[in-house]
Order: sequence, then structure tokens, then C-alpha cells
Amino acid sequence: MASNLRYKRVVIKISGESLTHAGERGIGADEVLALAREIQQAARHGVEIAIVIGGGNILRGGQFDAGGRIQEATAHYMGMLATVMNGLALQDALESVGCDTRLMTAIRMDGVAEPFIRRRARRHLQKGRIVILAAGTGSPFVTTDTAATLRALELEADIVLKATQVDGVYSEDPKKNPHAVLYSQLTFSNVLERNLGVMDPTAIAQCMEHDMPIMVFNYHKPGNIERAVLGEKIGTLVASQRHLQAASS
Ligand code: UDP
Repeated sequence: MASNLRYKRVVIKISGESLTHAGERGIGADEVLALAREIQQAARHGVEIAIVIGGGNILRGGQFDAGGRIQEATAHYMGMLATVMNGLALQDALESVGCDTRLMTAIRMDGVAEPFIRRRARRHLQKGRIVILAAGTGSPFVTTDTAATLRALELEADIVLKATQVDGVYSEDPKKNPHAVLYSQLTFSNVLERNLGVMDPTAIAQCMEHDMPIMVFNYHKPGNIERAVLGEKIGTLVASQRHLQAASS
């Protein structure tokens, strides 16, 4: 690994919607392949990459309305299974562009993927494999944002890179207000106090407690995943005051 790299190990949180055409549901082969190419570009520098994949392109448990006939917990498990489908698609696409990968799931699914075992995941990363983490945390009522921060902590990653459809964190929804201000950096407290929709509050609180920085960036711009992995200043850095001061000095 080149010694001048800013990060040794990162966790990238990628939403399910990145695997499909804007506004559509399911999995689009072209979109998955385009994403895989962007990740492959980023991976060639030698930074260890774990990807937590979402499932919102297929199903989000909290939004699934079955009129009370399907329990909410069940719907969350369905959402976790959706992330496994996405993980399988992303794994094959990454391998088709020459990446060495492992898919690990938080819910055991022998025959489909390896179970997530922290030490084994770390070993894969050390060997230069891209580790795709699916099935979230394995527990209902949270989202893959929380899975991403949890895995970043236990894998001792340097940062969580949250890939989104906008350039970072704004004062308001930029799709609704064109005058919304884009922040270059924020503390965790800023995010929680101003109720900015960066990630789930549980995920933010977890990062705040353990001083794990988050960088929110736009994955739609070609080359941005690579820039994020290399630690370039794109998007919004959310971190502790101490971390932000060190980053700007
Ligand atoms: N989910 C869950 N526990 C987890 C992670 C995910 O129950 O640890 C469920 C939850 O219902 C969530 C769905 O899986 O809505 C899909 O994940 P998510 O919404 O995070 O996907 P994304 O929006 O990132 O595509």
C-alpha cells in the first residue's frame, strides 16, 4: 500500500437506490456495473474497502405498509434480505471488472455468502479484497446507516464514506430549496441539534460517541468514490471538533 494514503481502511455506505435508474425500483444491470467500475477505480490505490449495501431500491421495512397483516419486524427482515440481493449483484459486477471480493451477511445464509465474522472480515480486507457487508446489522428496526457505522467501528476503519445523490449536507433539502447552503464541515452536535438528514440519528450518535468521522458525498459525479477514498475534500465532513480542527490544519 502506498504510504501517502490518507486512509488505510474505509467503510462506504451505498444505498440500494444507487443500483437502479433514478426513480425506479429493483436492480438495473447498467447501474450496478457503472457503480462497480467507480469502486474498482477507487480500490486500485490500495485502501482497504468495506461496503455496506442498502436495500431501499427493493424494500424498506419502516415504509412497508401491509395494513397490519405483516408485522413491522418482519418487514425489516425483508429489507435486510433485499440488501443481500443487492450485495450479490454488486459482488458479481465487481468481479466482472477484476476486483477480488467477499460477500458477508449478518444473517447466516450458507451457500449464498459467508457469515460476518469480524476477524475474518479484517483478514479479507488485509488481503486486498473488497468486502461487501449485507443484511445490515442482522436486527430489525434500524437501517444500513447504523450497520455502516457499527461495522466501521468494529473493523477499526478510519472513516465512514456515505455515498448520496447530492453534494453533501445542506441546510435544507436542495431539491426543494435551490438556495439551501451546502456545508463543508459539521460537528456531530450540529447535525443532531439542527436535525440535518445526514444519516439516522442512531448512526450519528454512535459515531459521536466513538469519534468516528463521516464524509457525505455525491456518488453520481464520476470519480467521486475514488476522491472520497483518497481523502480529498469533497462533500461534507461530519466529525468531532477535535477532528475537524486537525483536518483543517
Ligand atoms: N434493515 C434492518 N436492520 C438493519 C439494516 C436494514 O431492519 O440493520 C432493514 C430496514 O427495514 C431498512 C431495509 O432493511 O429500511 C433496507 O435498508 P436501508 O433502508 O438502510 O437501505 P437504503 O436506504 O440504504 O438503500
